[in-house]
Amino acid sequence: MAERSPSGMSPVRRAWLRELGIERLWNLPGPVLQAPVPGIVQAGVQDDAGAVQGAESPMRDVAAPVLRTEAEAAEAPAEAPAPVALDPEQAWAALEEEVRHCTACGLCQGRTQTVFGTGPRHARWMLIGEAPGEQEDKQGAPFVGRSGKLLDNMLAAISRSRQVDVFIANVIKCRPPGNRDPLPEEVARCSPFLMRQIELIQPELILVLGRFAAQTLLETDARIGSLRGKVHTLSLHGRSVPVVVSYHPAYLLRSPAEKIKAWQDLRLAASVGGA
Ligand code: SF4
Repeated sequence: MAERSPSGMSPVRRAWLRELGIERLWNLPGPVLQAPVPGIVQAGVQDDAGAVQGAESPMRDVAAPVLRTEAEAAEAPAEAPAPVALDPEQAWAALEEEVRHCTACGLCQGRTQTVFGTGPRHARWMLIGEAPGEQEDKQGAPFVGRSGKLLDNMLAAISRSRQVDVFIANVIKCRPPGNRDPLPEEVARCSPFLMRQIELIQPELILVLGRFAAQTLLETDARIGSLRGKVHTLSLHGRSVPVVVSYHPAYLLRSPAEKIKAWQDLRLAASVGGA
């Protein structure tokens, strides 16, 4: 006898829930994008004691090839170029070109190519991972292979895709040797590119995937488990963007039991980042 489907659930979402092993348990009626997540604070950040903190900027204001604090940026000479002085389309093309030829850190020596990111320029969401792996380095795109397929399925479950409304990028644009964690100086050199991508795309929401990317973007050494389940805020040039943290798909492939948490993270992101 065939199992009954939850009311209104699309085949794609049902397939994803089945993969998670929670198709029957979850049984969510109605559109998932409207579903609030119990216990989640959707404005500001809730600390471990349950207190709600204001939407302080967890991120430095970065626009030049070297990370700068907001105070340093404020003290910059008046003639210093604004981060986005060009027409947005020109600025985007210039940024792509700059990344393509970048030799600002030692990672340029071992790369096959830079991995700028994929997705529409005016995406509603940005997904941010750590750095290219071997396949990403070869193909020039982030999140390919099994991790990419899992990520695409996860996005499809909430009716999003990198072809339509999600731009996917990494903190680091060149592959670190042996897939090691990027070094602090490599992050300092490369993360301004990411900040400029965020600035140009102006996403409604950022979903950060994995410990390294989360700690880098939020400038914290907190464990990923404590960063999940909250809505953080990234402030960039006076604009605040909600940030949700989740696990990296590669980790989910190694630890399938954690997929349920990833699904909770997606629901949180969807409840914050619009239907
Ligand atoms: S990792 Fe970033 S900063 Fe380093 S060479 Fe590549 S693009 Fe440039």
